Amino acid sequence: MAMNRRDTFKLAGVAAAAVALPTMATASEKKSTAKKASGKSVVIVGGGFGGLTMAKALRQKDKSLEVTVIEKSNMFMACPFSNSLLGGLDGVTLDTFIGDYYQPSAKHGYAFVHATVTAIDRKAKIVTTTNGDFAYDILVLSPGIAYDTAKQFPKWSADKVREIEHACPGGLIPGNEHVALKRQLDNMDDGNVIIVPPAKGKFRCPPAPYERTAMVANFMKNEGIKGKVIVLDTRNGKFAKAKAFKESWKDLFSDIIEYKGLTEVIDIDTAAKTITYKEYKDADDLEGKMQTTKYEVCNLIPNNKCSPVITMAGLETNGSGYALMDGYSFKSKTDSNVYVIGDAVSHGIPPSGQTAIWGSHRAAGQIIDQLNGKVNDPKAGLPAKAANVCYSMVGGKPEEAIMVTHTFSADKSGVLKGKGHVPKPKDGNGKFRSKGTAKATREWFGGVMREMFT
Ligand SMILES: Cc1cc2nc3c(=O)[nH]c(=O)nc-3n(C[C@H](O)[C@H](O)[C@H](O)COP(=O)(O)OP(=O)(O)OC[C@H]3O[C@@H](n4cnc5c(N)ncnc54)[C@H](O)[C@@H]3O)c2cc1C
Repeated sequence: MAMNRRDTFKLAGVAAAAVALPTMATASEKKSTAKKASGKSVVIVGGGFGGLTMAKALRQKDKSLEVTVIEKSNMFMACPFSNSLLGGLDGVTLDTFIGDYYQPSAKHGYAFVHATVTAIDRKAKIVTTTNGDFAYDILVLSPGIAYDTAKQFPKWSADKVREIEHACPGGLIPGNEHVALKRQLDNMDDGNVIIVPPAKGKFRCPPAPYERTAMVANFMKNEGIKGKVIVLDTRNGKFAKAKAFKESWKDLFSDIIEYKGLTEVIDIDTAAKTITYKEYKDADDLEGKMQTTKYEVCNLIPNNKCSPVITMAGLETNGSGYALMDGYSFKSKTDSNVYVIGDAVSHGIPPSGQTAIWGSHRAAGQIIDQLNGKVNDPKAGLPAKAANVCYSMVGGKPEEAIMVTHTFSADKSGVLKGKGHVPKPKDGNGKFRSKGTAKATREWFGGVMREMFT
């Protein structure tokens, strides 16, 4: 039988995998190529909000530390403010979100390694990557989140999960998903955009799906696209900054946004572009009514789980893979030489970029005290007022935004807790949204990019 070009590639793939197999030993089984740790070696996994802030903070506090950041992407892209790109806000382009990893590493004197972490041997204190092994004295994990689509939709095959993740991008993990969503919106005809927030559990940036709802409505209104933004939620109206979002949706986009609070997605047909879901009348309705709706763009945001890097390190976790913590600190419960920051922690504080930055500064202090044999009080400086500030754009012409602040404290439960407050701004004329808050949103985003990249 004649072999075509595709077959040749397939076979080449199989041969490559076969050659690769014998080398798949764990870090402790094979002889490590890692340079010996200096006694002050800190390896950071993940060059996102947590990892980049941590690398800079450590080097600023102690120039004698050898700090290495290992990151699988070769280009940084920020998620915060990215709904403004979908909303078509003035002057916002993909470039707004991109960062150059080499700039802060050169300026602050830490090593940046572009590689994927494939194994962590805590006994040998070695991190194995696709680009060599790295020995550490202290390991910091800031690997972020992963989608839990397969568990959320157990009837979908692995192929179907992949197909739907590509056709209906979640847009909660930076990179191609945001580009794909933007392209789909730019190319859409009249029709509906469906937004499905994660159905349950903790998820990255709880206001993000609802901010996206407003921004997509803004885009459709400005482009004169006839259709609805339909939100298929499970939260029955009880979501982050709900009162403030609902007020602005009603005032600005009541003819476009349709919020359905008690739904369950059953199926998506990406060829026919239809979504089938059950809609429940109230909490006592156990049957629900099956509905099928046609869409132009579908943004299915799957349930979140923690990045598999935490279990790869053999740390104790909660049911969704988030690392169990040692009291109020950012040390893991399992290993006093492994710290966890950002979205991967199981503290009761919101998973946000601002929280990742706040936690990184605290953890950097804790690490330096540990390396210098000093006792660190993980309750020091608590409660921390407005430790998290999170803005959401809700309108484009004029630009208006809402905000929430969180105070973090150590209560009796043993974990850090956050308490939120959604203020009405002075320039809001009695509303939750204002132009001043939109200006603050842009300034906040510029500030966090500077925090990581200058
Ligand atoms: C649409 C949207 C809007 C948002 N808006 C806001 C906002 O307004 N304000 C706010 O504060 N936050 C916001 N966030 C949340 C914020 O982006 C995250 O909470 C923050 O990025 C978490 O930081 P992190 O370091 O835990 O994870 P990330 O920033 O995701 O960094 C994790 C890094 O680890 C890398 N990694 C993972 N596995 C490996 C591996 N095996 N080897 C090497 N590298 C690996 C990843 O590539 C990634 O770069 C928003 C998020 C989204 C999606």
